[in-house]
Amino acid sequence: MTNKYMYFIANWKMYGDLKTINTLDKVIKFSKSKEINKGRLIYCPPYTLISSFLKKLKNCQIDIGGQNCHESENYGAHTGFINSNMLKNIGANYVIIGHSENRKKGENDKLINLKIKSALNAKLKVIFCIGETLTEKRKKKTRLVLSKQIKAGLNKIKNKSNIFIAYEPVWSIGTGVVPKSKNLLKIVKFIKNKFKNKSPKILYGGSVNSKNINELKEIPDIDGFLIGGASQKTKNFIDIVKKTYS
Ligand code: PEP
Repeated sequence: MTNKYMYFIANWKMYGDLKTINTLDKVIKFSKSKEINKGRLIYCPPYTLISSFLKKLKNCQIDIGGQNCHESENYGAHTGFINSNMLKNIGANYVIIGHSENRKKGENDKLINLKIKSALNAKLKVIFCIGETLTEKRKKKTRLVLSKQIKAGLNKIKNKSNIFIAYEPVWSIGTGVVPKSKNLLKIVKFIKNKFKNKSPKILYGGSVNSKNINELKEIPDIDGFLIGGASQKTKNFIDIVKKTYS
């Protein structure tokens, strides 16, 4: 059982329509119960659902985040994008940046760094995703890749108090495979040690579910979880939180 303040971030990716809003009723009830202990729930739905989520979650302690943002804080001719101020203005408090699904589409460390800066300027909390691919892991490059992503992604950012680092090994996302606890423990420590005594909070993401949470929650330096697939079913999401605190 943990007594720690933990973050549970639901990444809904490109899923969900207006009907799915009703599935939040159970989470709202749960968020008001004692079972949640010191946990914080954050939903990152697709942009199209953000305002409906905000309306629905108005009277509870559940936060909302975006899944990405443009690097510019200003309005501009960027078809298909939204910026950090637009997210903040609508009522979001968080944003995911550097997710491997976006890195795969061409987001590089430099762009991610600009996005993080713009999000911090807009007073958003940033969930900064890092992680190695399977090939990099096999070549034993995990630490090298993480160091590079951290260094470049956080370049010239002094105040890291609004940054969460989400360690998401790419080979674990959506695959059902999670790192062995002893390896994950070492990697999380490695990340933490990069910041000496001023480390941002560290989250783990990659196939977290209500079965493997019992093992994952025992890793001392993890401050929460970024949860994709399992967060889209309310029961699974609640079970993950309940099991973390049981
Ligand atoms: C994610 O996409 O951030 C993620 C962790 O997905 P999943 O939980 O489905 O592996």
